[in-house]
Amino acid sequence: MNIHEYQGKEVLRQYGVATPRGFVCRSPDEAAEAASRIGGRAWVVKAQIHAGGRGKGGGVKPAWSVDEVRRHAGQMLGMTLQTPQTGPEGRVVKQLLVEESVEIDKELYLGFVVDRNSQRVALMASSEGGMDIEEVAARTPEKIHRLFINPDTGLGVAEADGIARRIGIADRAVVQARVLMQNLWQAFDGSDASLAEINPLVLTRDGRVIALDAKFDFDDNALFRQPDIVAMRDLDEEDPVEIEASDAGLSYIALDGDIGCLVNGAGLAMATMDAIKLYGGEPANFLDVGGGATADKVAEAVRLMLRNPRLKAVLVNIFGGIMKCDVIAHGVVDAVRETGLKVPLIVRMKGTNEDLGRTILAQSGLSIINADDMAEAAQRAIGAASNWERPR
Ligand code: ADP
Ligand code: MG
Repeated sequence: MNIHEYQGKEVLRQYGVATPRGFVCRSPDEAAEAASRIGGRAWVVKAQIHAGGRGKGGGVKPAWSVDEVRRHAGQMLGMTLQTPQTGPEGRVVKQLLVEESVEIDKELYLGFVVDRNSQRVALMASSEGGMDIEEVAARTPEKIHRLFINPDTGLGVAEADGIARRIGIADRAVVQARVLMQNLWQAFDGSDASLAEINPLVLTRDGRVIALDAKFDFDDNALFRQPDIVAMRDLDEEDPVEIEASDAGLSYIALDGDIGCLVNGAGLAMATMDAIKLYGGEPANFLDVGGGATADKVAEAVRLMLRNPRLKAVLVNIFGGIMKCDVIAHGVVDAVRETGLKVPLIVRMKGTNEDLGRTILAQSGLSIINADDMAEAAQRAIGAASNWERPR
């Protein structure tokens, strides 16, 4: 689960990480009022969407008067903001963060992320802040410093000081940077985050170390014990089909391709997508209906997939273990009838009650392309998708 920058900064403040003063706003009037409350002579108006790179897309604007804050807010609210991370469709801006403008001396990078290889949390830090960290890693990998955190002892004083010096923090600010790093570690650990990234972390002209941006990802499997984090969820930022799917107990993730996949079991779903890609196709989604799906659940899954306008074929790949093939077959037939499925349907079923399942499909009178193994299923799905023309 993701949250907005302004929410990330609330989490940071709870753990004692320094951030600029700021307020979230939903109208130009609120933005002007926030600027007055913050005081000072310069502010920054920041679009709140679940994507980074906002600076590049016009989603971060400086202002030198309350009127200018109001004007920027008027322009930004309701606009579709495109950044390198939103894709061409962009995101509609519904909230802004108005905050004090900080006089920046240096922009650094600091993040904690779960590192699967070492099975630890890695601290990553760099003197090259404010830009895309993947780009820094690709171009100047020596400028990224990594440290693996011992889960029992956390981030030690000497370790933190060493990192601070390596990213160019002057002696007089090292203690501040150390405390900030240790607090960020506490925030990461305490909120069950999988990513806590501050880019940029800045040194100000008056010698302070402040988090100017905040990006958090949380481990969905730990949300049951993080009610405060769950309360920050913004459904407007999530794919509506994915939300409905999760309400129906289905794991669905929308992808860019045109072959819809309906599969039971996450491993088989991954293998199915791999097979489609291997033969030159592109999956339209990941969909795991789960081990014990009912006919209703399968029908719901088909309905969700069909809401994708790019869809050109549906590939059903089922291994009947706990789940029986005849149950799946009933679900598929019901869903196809009810939704008036227009795109070709390819079915591969193996396992418990396979023959019964096939008989149900054959007797349904629907035009279904059968496949015996995964390679055949993927190839038939790709062929059918490329031959299919959308009715006018
Ligand atoms: P994004 O990562 O989405 O582009 P950031 O919050 O990192 O958004 O902001 C982009 C840039 O805008 C920062 O690198 C920094 O230079 C500038 N900036 C952001 N917030 C402030 C602020 N409060 N004061 C001064 N400059 C800021
Ligand atoms: Mg940033």
